[in-house]
Amino acid sequence: MPRNKMIVSIDGPAGSGKSTIARIIAERTGLTYIDTGAMYRALTWKALKNGIDPLEEPTLSDMAFKSNLELSEDKVLIDGIDVTDDIRTLQVTRNVSAVSSLGGVREAMVATQRKMALAAGKGAVIEGRDIGTVVFPDATIKIYLDASVEERARRRQIDLKTAGVDLEIQALESEMRKRDEYDSTRNNSPLKKPADSFVLDTTDKTIQEVVDEVASLIKSKERV
Ligand code: C5P
Repeated sequence: MPRNKMIVSIDGPAGSGKSTIARIIAERTGLTYIDTGAMYRALTWKALKNGIDPLEEPTLSDMAFKSNLELSEDKVLIDGIDVTDDIRTLQVTRNVSAVSSLGGVREAMVATQRKMALAAGKGAVIEGRDIGTVVFPDATIKIYLDASVEERARRRQIDLKTAGVDLEIQALESEMRKRDEYDSTRNNSPLKKPADSFVLDTTDKTIQEVVDEVASLIKSKERV
């Protein structure tokens, strides 16, 4: 990795606060924000739209290598189509773990993610499940965010409510447990804490408190 680039990796399960924190940190530091979950979601959206089974490995890998993914100014585009809102539907959320478990799909996405981060002027804040372990094992600083499943489901319920969807907390908790299980037990790049990461439990913390902790970790690295 070029010495003049800063790569901040943020990994963790759904609802741990990755996107919120990564976005604010990117804004504060001038680093580019890269949401890798949005990329797997966009591919899942495309597969569903084309009637492709989310576990059909060769077709999906081929699709992943041939698709043009762009993340810019808070928008997610696949082949030039703006899917920013469409990738947040329950249907996409329920199928994304299957699509992202495929080796060929991950190979294509990891290559694109590395390219995106290295093209970013100053560097990037990049969030996902395998960033500190696989995509950038030599990231400048690695953060792992966690929170209790109850709190993560509560946060998701609030997000969904804002989008006009009302779901029981128990249903959300059970979906989250299922996705955690799938994402952390798959063969290809399972979600796990990078050995050299700073682990922050966000359960009882405000966004501001977590942002301040991450910002001071980054500062301490900059001073080294
Ligand atoms: O972060 P988000 O909930 O949008 O991620 C959606 C899904 O994409 C995750 O549940 C996981 O299956 C997959 N993902 C992944 N690797 C990443 C980012 C997301 O497998 N780096």
